Amino acid sequence: MSAVPQASTRRPIRDLPDELISQIAAGEVVERPASVVRELLDNALDAGCTQVAVRLAAGGVRQIVVEDDGCGIERDELALAVRRHATSKITTLDELEHVNTMGFRGEALAAVASVATLTLTSRAASAAHAWRLDARSGELQPAARAVGTTVEVRELFFNTPARRKFLKTDATELGHALEAVRRHALARADVNFSVWHDGRQVAHWRAGTPAQRWRDVLGAEVVDAALPLDETHGNVRLHGLVGTPQAARSRADAQYLYVNGRFVRDRLVAHAVRSAYEDVLHGQRQPVYALFIEIDPLRVDVNVHPTKIEVRFRDGREVHQAVRHAVENALAPSRAGGSLAPAAATAPPGPTPPPPAARSGTPVGALAPMQAPAQVSRTFGTQSRFDLREPPPSWRAAGARAPGFDADTPRTEVASDEPPYDNAAAWPLGRALAQLGGAYVLAENTHGLVIVDMHAAHERIVYERLKASLGTASLLEAQPLLIPAAFDATPQEMAAAQAHSSTLVQLGLELTPLSPRTLAVRSRPAALPGADVVELARSVLADLSAYDASSVVQRAQHDLLATMACHGAVRAHRSLTLPEMNALLREMERTERADHCNHGRPTWRQISLRELDALFLRGR
Ligand code: ADP
Ligand code: MG
Repeated sequence: MSAVPQASTRRPIRDLPDELISQIAAGEVVERPASVVRELLDNALDAGCTQVAVRLAAGGVRQIVVEDDGCGIERDELALAVRRHATSKITTLDELEHVNTMGFRGEALAAVASVATLTLTSRAASAAHAWRLDARSGELQPAARAVGTTVEVRELFFNTPARRKFLKTDATELGHALEAVRRHALARADVNFSVWHDGRQVAHWRAGTPAQRWRDVLGAEVVDAALPLDETHGNVRLHGLVGTPQAARSRADAQYLYVNGRFVRDRLVAHAVRSAYEDVLHGQRQPVYALFIEIDPLRVDVNVHPTKIEVRFRDGREVHQAVRHAVENALAPSRAGGSLAPAAATAPPGPTPPPPAARSGTPVGALAPMQAPAQVSRTFGTQSRFDLREPPPSWRAAGARAPGFDADTPRTEVASDEPPYDNAAAWPLGRALAQLGGAYVLAENTHGLVIVDMHAAHERIVYERLKASLGTASLLEAQPLLIPAAFDATPQEMAAAQAHSSTLVQLGLELTPLSPRTLAVRSRPAALPGADVVELARSVLADLSAYDASSVVQRAQHDLLATMACHGAVRAHRSLTLPEMNALLREMERTERADHCNHGRPTWRQISLRELDALFLRGR
């Protein structure tokens, strides 16, 4: 029978016993072994350590030991360290607002000690030897140890079996614990980290440069497919790296965000990153990034969550814009005309081909790595000789208006349908050879074979052109609704409709209040005739109230343009003549970011002659 009284039984109000208060607090702070690892690492780093070792047994459930060479704890303070709300890190509210240590709440050790067996062995610099404290009994004994601290935590949740049941397999818990170490290690390249599990070393990252640490922790593959970033926008400095679109994953498992060195999760920043990728990444794909935001501590509140995994920015818009711009800039190194600069003379000869495939016949697909955008823009360094914004004569000869090509602009004549091969040598995407399967254009360039997904490529071209023609006017044509669509609005929606009415008008959406709790949609964007106006209005209002208005306008426009571009682009299974294919290739070379369609899929791939040779086991 349960000893818990019925809810209806009135009992006198009492102070909770100390132990229970800690256990309740532990419920928020300690979810699993990884939480303990996080807290102990925070403490080690706050103590100014240069190296820290984490030793785990059975995924950390049986034992977690964290040893550091930090400043240590004086004998007389050991008992205080495991007391609730006892900390050496802040003493006043002012210090809380300026806090630059990982900890400040003074509750981690107490919380852990209330749900596990904890011993604290520490030696301060001035002490002749170390002292060991048993948190449960309070017993203090001399011990042997160099300056620094060892915290040993055993049998997590031994006294709270219900919580222990929530733990997963040792392997899963180990995975979470390792991830906790990784998060710290990424931010602190100046500290040596090592991790041991059941007596075996599972990670060792030596102190070094941040770039080296990122490589060690994230893997060379991730870092090589990422672009560095270091920018300051107003009060916000941002550095780190962002993965290229093709390095994106199906899961959001490589997204590291830090605010003043603290790993956090933040919807606003995640949204800002997402909007920087929106042109180049398919909706479901997750970008890879390690972003470090440095901001005046006064502009961010770190005391909003017991585990400090969340923060609140004083000016969210400022941070959103800074992140979006910095990531956009990192992703578009060829922006501002870079892709058209006549840089061929200094450009490297092209992508480095992978080593020749093993003699066992590697499939073609495996042999065609995409280039990173930076390389592509360099490869695209040559300006094409002809102004091929307009279709060559055969577009007209075929009687078809080239999709996306503007029929009204004056045409430049192309000398012949079959351009001389010398010209082709100067074209990064080469000379068209044939069309394959109604979907692909095959071309030959100096490196070998180029394969282009013609619909994806053309969609990108049309999209970029629409975007350019819309320019910065940012006004979408509105179509009044004969019958306004009314809907029940939340207070936030009402407020957003009022605060952002001019932005809404720019988007072609007119919203007026009908009552304190009802909004009416009176117009919609003319370019979206089929859309559910209420759904549209609601999602725009949600975005408007959460994020910075300029990005919403841009995003809505980009969505519309993407839809239009898809319809404007040449369809698969339409057969193209060679001049049409060449025109497409030249147009791709001229178009910024033409190497991905606007859903983030690649538009072309290169198979080098070396790769072809390897396929045929042919030495050169
Ligand atoms: P907080 O980190 O919020 O202060 P904790 O409960 O994590 O709270 O730690 C309590 C105190 O114990 C810290 O303020 C610090 O003075 C001391 N302490 C804990 N771990 C260490 C360590 N590894 N090295 C030195 N001092 C430590
Ligand atoms: Mg702490």
